[in-house]
Amino acid sequence: MRRAFTIILTALALSACSAPPAAPPPPPPVAAPTASPTPSPSPSPTPSGLPVPGEVTRMKRDGFPVISTIPTKRKVVFLTIDDGWEQDPGFARIVRERGIPITVFPTRDAVEAKDGQEAGQGWKYIGAGGWPYFRDLGVPIENHTLTHPDLRTLGPDAQRAEICGAAKAIERHVGRAPELFRPPFGSWNAATLTAAEKCGMRAMVLWTASVQTDALIAYQNPEKRLYPGDILLLHFRPPLEKDFTRLVRKIERRGFSFGDLNAYLDDLLPVS
Ligand SMILES: [Zn+2]
Repeated sequence: MRRAFTIILTALALSACSAPPAAPPPPPPVAAPTASPTPSPSPSPTPSGLPVPGEVTRMKRDGFPVISTIPTKRKVVFLTIDDGWEQDPGFARIVRERGIPITVFPTRDAVEAKDGQEAGQGWKYIGAGGWPYFRDLGVPIENHTLTHPDLRTLGPDAQRAEICGAAKAIERHVGRAPELFRPPFGSWNAATLTAAEKCGMRAMVLWTASVQTDALIAYQNPEKRLYPGDILLLHFRPPLEKDFTRLVRKIERRGFSFGDLNAYLDDLLPVS
């Protein structure tokens, strides 16, 4: 009996690793109440990534929202993955199996690239999934332009063509219109915000840290650490499956869980 109890405890401890840390342990058993039982907040193997009620205070409208961090005290970070050159089925399987919330910002030219095409920075396209790969990830597919230009070098009309064109392409291929915009290289100006708003975006999303090969986190803060609400930037580049798995483990070891960026922004962004 004692052995069985130990095993149950171990199983609980293991599953708690991937559960949101805010969920309190189930209360000790008490005399059965007469009221109908409510479900206890038991650890779930699939973290929902949703904010708890009242966790996020809604922003006041003050121009087009530019987001680089989510204001929360909970140990939660957000994973975003950009461009889309590598379309690795192994990575897609992990995302679906583990239910880790991610938000994807693909560029049309990367998604539609043909085998062998140079992806810049020495990366080569090594996938073959195209838009169905991104649609089938089952995560929000957001806007990262058609051709990945430095938007500051473009005039207002060209910026609008890049952002609206990508919005239309995503809606056509994925079946949902994107609501978030991320500027390539994090480079933008006032015309970018106007264009993003006109193309139906709700916010521009930047990041607080980027993830390099071997799951190395390049922090933008001098303390070189993760903070609650950090938005991490990864790229669809090889070996994404390996690096993503290492990154998830590394972040969980530090006691953080993964938030659903779109759900947090639903609570955070001003209602128009
Ligand atoms: Zn990019």
